[in-house]
Amino acid sequence: MSAAPSSLLEPIAYEGTKPASGDDYTFFFDIDNCLYKKSSDIHGMMQKLIHKYFVTHLQLDDESAEYLHQQYYRDYGLAIEGLVRFHNIDAMEYNHEVDDALPLEDVLKPDPELRAMLLKLKASPRIKKLWLFTNAYKTHGLRVVKLLGIDDIFDGITYCNYAKRPMLCKPMDDMFAIARREAGNVPVEDCLYVDDSYINIKAAHRLGWHTSIHYVDPADPVPEKPAGTHVIRDILDIERVLPELFEAAPQKHQ
Ligand SMILES: [Mg+2]
Repeated sequence: MSAAPSSLLEPIAYEGTKPASGDDYTFFFDIDNCLYKKSSDIHGMMQKLIHKYFVTHLQLDDESAEYLHQQYYRDYGLAIEGLVRFHNIDAMEYNHEVDDALPLEDVLKPDPELRAMLLKLKASPRIKKLWLFTNAYKTHGLRVVKLLGIDDIFDGITYCNYAKRPMLCKPMDDMFAIARREAGNVPVEDCLYVDDSYINIKAAHRLGWHTSIHYVDPADPVPEKPAGTHVIRDILDIERVLPELFEAAPQKHQ
């Protein structure tokens, strides 16, 4: 592992990255396109349902719906944020018709390799908690981890509460503060985090989170300007970039 990877798919640790050598870390995991691969195209299915929502509820033609959808996505990172701000939509109805309507059962299957890695992290003497941190509503987030067969491993979830105003979501500073508080007032220096979103990782890094890992899908280029402390091209590469978390501490075992 080095700053100049021999292969484009090698993980990267950027200069100045500190090893996770403490023993009180909470590891925050984004869910969508992070705990499952982007190639499962749940994002594409979701885009279709969001488009349908714009067309139906805002009475727009296809072109205007697409334009507005992309504009809200660009401006706020979430289409629903723009819908709530400017169209006063019922966010719970949106959740029901978009996120909860996704045919996830057809796409997501238990992932034994991911489960094994998460269990190793859970057993690590350096890790206190594993925490889900998503911009989806909780019904969707919990449904995804259940289908992946990893729902029993996490200690909790911080999600975007669609029913609350103002609606808070990543990458807002307040949302990162909420996640730390909900996970048990975790200080920033004990926060480890993986997300596939550049702007989310950038925010965590700016806020001083200890480790912020940008998961870049192998089909996408690594951004020229790093968002956080590491880039990985596969979620299982967490073990390669943070091997210290996977070393057992013999004195604490048995
Ligand atoms: Mg994501």
